[in-house]
Amino acid sequence: MRVLFTVSECVPFAKSGGLADVTGSLPNALKENGLDVRVVMPLYKIISDKYDAILSFVGHINVNVGWRNQYCGVYTTKLNNIDYYFIDNKYYFDREGFYGHFDDGERFAYFSTACIEFIRLIDFKPDIIHCHDWHTGMIPFLLKYKYRYDELYQDFRSIFTIHNLQYQGVFSKECLKDFFDLGEEYFSSHLLEFNGCISYMKAGIVSADQITTVSPTYRNEIQYEFFGENLDGLLRDKSYKLSGILNGIDTKIYNPSDDKLLKYNYDMSTIEKKVLNKKDLQQELGLPINSHIPIIAMITRLTCQKGIELVQHILHEVLQEDVQFILLGSGDSEYESYFRYMEMNFKNKVRAYIGFNEELAHKIYAGSDIFVMPSLFEPCGLAQMIALRYGTIPIVRETGGLNDSVCSYNELTDEGNGFTFHNYNAHELLFTIKRAFRYYYDKDIWRRIMSNAMDSDFSWYCSAKQYKSLYEQVRTLV
Ligand code: ADP
Repeated sequence: MRVLFTVSECVPFAKSGGLADVTGSLPNALKENGLDVRVVMPLYKIISDKYDAILSFVGHINVNVGWRNQYCGVYTTKLNNIDYYFIDNKYYFDREGFYGHFDDGERFAYFSTACIEFIRLIDFKPDIIHCHDWHTGMIPFLLKYKYRYDELYQDFRSIFTIHNLQYQGVFSKECLKDFFDLGEEYFSSHLLEFNGCISYMKAGIVSADQITTVSPTYRNEIQYEFFGENLDGLLRDKSYKLSGILNGIDTKIYNPSDDKLLKYNYDMSTIEKKVLNKKDLQQELGLPINSHIPIIAMITRLTCQKGIELVQHILHEVLQEDVQFILLGSGDSEYESYFRYMEMNFKNKVRAYIGFNEELAHKIYAGSDIFVMPSLFEPCGLAQMIALRYGTIPIVRETGGLNDSVCSYNELTDEGNGFTFHNYNAHELLFTIKRAFRYYYDKDIWRRIMSNAMDSDFSWYCSAKQYKSLYEQVRTLV
């Protein structure tokens, strides 16, 4: 079976968060299950700068974006046995950053149409187009309504995966005509209309043959008003075609026993070497070097989703203990300045690295003891899975994929790979951190929790099989 992933970011080429990890690792797992999977994404500046030498030119076509007629170059490369295609248009993509530009609606309208049109150029006709998040939500819609009489696309089936419902790609009503040359008849509440505008996310939901989201718990949550971002009614209506498949992580990239970014590799049988990474981290960040002090870490986008405000309420109190706190992240300026302020006031205890740094992230996963992720909502979350793999014990709120991957430690049975709390309440977080501290100082118990953590399986093995059977099911739809 042939599957085309249409994505806005993908490891190793372009990453701003977990979406890129997933679109980077799932194709390989599917390939191991016998599927022919290829990936198409924009040729951002960062990719042409870094990968120019390995890209080959396939050809070019022209793509209509409403009344505009735009150049569309296609480049390709093969990496780890996967074929990647890149859509080249300097005006839209030769810029710093991937999103957040004034014309994102037009850029991803262009990309969506290009993803459909460029198939005429290549010798690969997919059975399934698998679209990811709002950037590609218009693709199933265009296939269903604009290209339905084009013979080439008759047998294509589509899957739309919601990685984060909060980001929806909502643009003014006029974009319908201006970017897609579609008439007023598509501006209706059962199609694209969303609060007087149009929504690319909604387009994917209403028109894809199947919708998936990235954990079973999030699949249920988004059908409630609190998590549904004003689409909960629609999602309840479409629940017959909505499933939740837990993401996995790339266990080759995130492998403490073979991680080239670490000075000291380790696994459970050589777990004492984890402490060497801890000292190395303390030294690199200029913190007091002491293996007995627990290090609490966060690696995260600094947005309200991630429960930063809970941390703000209790960090002062946590820092009364003998503890070190490390933050790696970037995002809302209010949160960035809060962590800078904490670092200034607790020079011996707090480090805030504001920015994106892959290498430091690996060192923090390996060198810390506790990983905090108190999210307000979390579609899946990969950071807690990575932390588990490095034997760094997660403290999470029971929501979305956090709920499906972290099980609270039970002293009576010795089961559990982390610590969890239920309500979005700062004191529940504080209590849970203090509970973790109690066990941290009992070396035997902590070792057992670390062992449970490192034994947890978050490879793609099971989830790739679920995607495969979904593809098979969708392919037979008439
Ligand atoms: P989300 O996709 O919502 O940002 P996830 O937990 O699913 O959250 O994935 C986040 C990914 O991005 C993880 O691989 C994490 O290590 C990485 N990451 C987040 N912030 C940073 C940062 N500042 N520097 C390096 N890596 C980061």
